[in-house]
Amino acid sequence: MLRYIKRMISIEQIQKTFSAQRAKFDDLVKRRFIYVQTAEIYGGVAGLFDYGPIGTGIKNNLIAQWRKHFIVEEDLLEITCATLTPQPVLKHSGHEDRFSDWMVKDPKTHETFRADHLIEGFIEERLKDKATKDADRQRAEEILRKLPNFKNAGEFDAVIKELGIMNPNQKKNELSGAYPFNLMFDTKIGPMGDIKAYLRPETAQAIFVNFKRLLEFKNGKLPFGGSIIGLAYRNEIAPRNGLLRVREFEMAEIEYFIDPQEKDHPKFGSVADLILPLFHRKAQTEGHPPEHLSIGEAVKAKIIANEMLGYFIGRTFLFAKSIGIKPELVRFRQHQSGEMAHYACDCWDLEVLCSYGWVECVGLADRSAYDLTAHMKGSGDKLMASRIFEKPIAKEFVTYDIDRATVGKTYKQHAKAISDALEAMDLEELKKLKAGIEADGKALVGQWEMTGQMLKNFKVESKMVQEEKFVPNVIEPSFGIGRLVYCLLEQNFLCRADDDKRTFFSFKPLMAPYKVVFLPLMNKDKLVEVVEKLEADFRKAGLMCRTDCGSGAIGKRYARTDEMGIPFAVTVDFETLENQTVTLREITSMEQIRIPIADLKGAIVESLEDCGIWKKLQAKYPSAKVNEAEEQKA
Ligand code: AMP
Repeated sequence: MLRYIKRMISIEQIQKTFSAQRAKFDDLVKRRFIYVQTAEIYGGVAGLFDYGPIGTGIKNNLIAQWRKHFIVEEDLLEITCATLTPQPVLKHSGHEDRFSDWMVKDPKTHETFRADHLIEGFIEERLKDKATKDADRQRAEEILRKLPNFKNAGEFDAVIKELGIMNPNQKKNELSGAYPFNLMFDTKIGPMGDIKAYLRPETAQAIFVNFKRLLEFKNGKLPFGGSIIGLAYRNEIAPRNGLLRVREFEMAEIEYFIDPQEKDHPKFGSVADLILPLFHRKAQTEGHPPEHLSIGEAVKAKIIANEMLGYFIGRTFLFAKSIGIKPELVRFRQHQSGEMAHYACDCWDLEVLCSYGWVECVGLADRSAYDLTAHMKGSGDKLMASRIFEKPIAKEFVTYDIDRATVGKTYKQHAKAISDALEAMDLEELKKLKAGIEADGKALVGQWEMTGQMLKNFKVESKMVQEEKFVPNVIEPSFGIGRLVYCLLEQNFLCRADDDKRTFFSFKPLMAPYKVVFLPLMNKDKLVEVVEKLEADFRKAGLMCRTDCGSGAIGKRYARTDEMGIPFAVTVDFETLENQTVTLREITSMEQIRIPIADLKGAIVESLEDCGIWKKLQAKYPSAKVNEAEEQKA
């Protein structure tokens, strides 16, 4: 327990440090054009951002690492699909009816608020207030815990009434009841506008609708994963917190199709011993902090539903670490059962700590067979895979005849929905239906009562088969690229110990947009010539670099490039002309070595793979003593 208390305190302190630094962070983000609000010169629009060269570089490097870590190493099938999605896709996926957030309105001012954010904000203020009584505090905490599970307007309305929440900007104005607001941007295609469509709210659906072709590409064999990296659009009610809640953002999603009878993973052993902070359901409901468990233990104890999900949780952690997210500042939070979609059997979020608290950056879900079943019903296409047996096995089937005349006469336009519902029933459900009709003369198919007159010749038969069809299950890891970029920036933002106005980013060389900056000590032709040669050589090798021939003192130029998070600075001086060596400076330690030009490129290339390279270089080459504070004054 003591271990937990210590950790909680330090987490709180770290978040406070992030918050205290945020003004400086925001200033640097703007000054160095890392990202800015879209159409800033016209006043901008909430929830839309443009990335500058550094932001774009980080984002591209993050995506490149994602591609390597998942698409290459997991042998995924990457596809790129239209972002304009025809309406039937999002009708049958359930988005048209259910992809909503709950909203409340001030009828007098017409201001709108996201109901859960409003309640959260109100409770946070109440908890901060020292005058709040213990009983009220406990009730407020209880509401906060239950809030993610709220599913209907009544639940929001009751809490808003109980707490007496008014419009936070107009304290005396009462609010409307909660109502759902669909987050999808709709549009119409064609000159007559007769094809309804939406900007996709996620990339996943395009993988599901291409399932048959992907399966063919894999010669009919499971498991395999499809993947899309691309934009998604959500008309968020309250975009906020920089890149964390926006209206257009990049996602990287995997839909990993598996046989529901085989949820183990051949490479599970590679992650089984990873110990992760698992904020499981029990810890959340009992008010405990995350428990540190190995993935193997968690799967064995059924805390994580299966190996397949556990495997991707482990791989997600390793990915986050590989890009420079601090491993001690992440946790995996399990969804409460009411928080998950009804079809999902287990969901975990990778949450990353930043100044805004714990932020969900990746969602990992076992979505069972929901998506393919929904599109199978919607399109009429068979989105199934096969299990092939070595020897034929006996298998039970249920057969029946629908008396279409009777069903049509009784249920008219619903007849098609009834036959679809029957199609979707599995063996056990059909056996139950048969037993119901035999016992009572009637039983329900969906909401419709079916009689023996409507379903005739109900039989259970056994046949020898060598192949069995089934709807694959899906494990879905879904990454929000912008959120990861934001957390990465904040977690790697630092101030120099002796001068907190000197801020910089300590990116891993792999992630840094520019790997190296070349600085001639003075703006002299001979020195600039060497710099130009080096620059051309690096660019040819595909290494992004910059040159700063500015007239400022070298220390000032270091400070300038530090703000861009350039991990290495190479200074060309008069000694270079004599012995073909340069000084190489590492950003975080500010230490320098003297290295032959001939070894320079190799060292930088190696740094992309090996984070411990600096120590090795220091052991190999002589140090170059410098005093940056002095240099800066020069
Ligand atoms: P979801 O499909 O809602 O589970 O979202 C998948 C991932 O997308 C989340 O884990 C977030 O990282 C990211 N995400 C969702 N909504 C937003 C948003 N409005 N702005 C930025 N990222 C988002």
